[in-house]
Amino acid sequence: MSALDVAALLVPGKRICLTTHVNPDGDGLGSEVGLVHLLRGLGADVAITNPTATPDRYDFLFADIPGVDRSAQAVKELRRADIVVVLDIADLSRLGILAETVRDCGVPVACIDHHVGPGVLPDGPRFVDPEAAATGELIALLAREAGWPITHQSARALYVALVTDTGGFRFSNTRPRTLRVAADLVEAGVDTEQVYLDVYANAPEGRPRLLAEVLQTLVVEPEFGLAWVTVPPGSLERHDVDPDDLDGAVEHARSIRGVRMALLFREVSGGRTKVSLRSVGDVDVAELARRFGGGGHRKAAGVAIAGPMPTVQAELLQAARELLGGVVVRA
Ligand code: 5GP
Ligand code: MN
Repeated sequence: MSALDVAALLVPGKRICLTTHVNPDGDGLGSEVGLVHLLRGLGADVAITNPTATPDRYDFLFADIPGVDRSAQAVKELRRADIVVVLDIADLSRLGILAETVRDCGVPVACIDHHVGPGVLPDGPRFVDPEAAATGELIALLAREAGWPITHQSARALYVALVTDTGGFRFSNTRPRTLRVAADLVEAGVDTEQVYLDVYANAPEGRPRLLAEVLQTLVVEPEFGLAWVTVPPGSLERHDVDPDDLDGAVEHARSIRGVRMALLFREVSGGRTKVSLRSVGDVDVAELARRFGGGGHRKAAGVAIAGPMPTVQAELLQAARELLGGVVVRA
């Protein structure tokens, strides 16, 4: 299945619902908003229906498309859709409370994604390429192939997707094609400094204060090339911030000389502990996350594991040490 199979479905006269993973990030949201502007340009009826709320950081993307985010009525909207487009994931399990509705919607479910692994979704065309740095990159390529005009607004949203999923074009997923797509978007009129200010320099005071607390918890095991940080219980509430404000915190652990795997632990609802995994070099954290029921990319993965922090942490750290090699000391 190719980009054009997906494009062929997205035509005026159909009710199109776009959705992405729980706790949406810059790529999920940028891809959605980019696609909204492209499809509106064609005259299509399109809404965004996500399983969890948009972090404040990305509100600016929605400012000029009022009413397009119908996540509050997501189940109802999805049931009325003629076509569902799942972005930045390829598996129902990442759709949270919307998983069953999408599974049972009975209409074509298209998918545009860049994760490894096939995933489970209802039937529909797929445009999936793990070589892409971001789903937003694939949407820009799809638009080009389909001959859809890239507007200034769609370019900005897709550029946000690229910037956030590549860590500002620093990560190894930044390939020549990524930069060529980014160049096209900048040529279409993206104000790169303004995007930086909107995404990274419009923080609540609590964000750096939370980061300071999280970094205090840093533990490094040089013998394994392992480093981790832990979000202190209650710290998000104390600083009046949300999980999105932790974006990038794990990079500080990864930045230490000799570290090959960095982890961030956080207690989440339902008695689970969320782990963000990052790696350097040839360490495959997606594989490690998959063993615990999660997934992601080779160098950036995540998982939510049932169990309290100390138990999950001990179990995951042990598995990480075994993967990294070195002398494994058992408790
Ligand atoms: P983060 O650590 O920033 O939440 O996520 C890093 C990457 O791991 C993302 O690209 C995302 O696709 C993946 N990921 C994060 N959490 C989960 C999860 O609970 N399950 C799966 N399958 N992937 C996840
Ligand atoms: Mn992505």
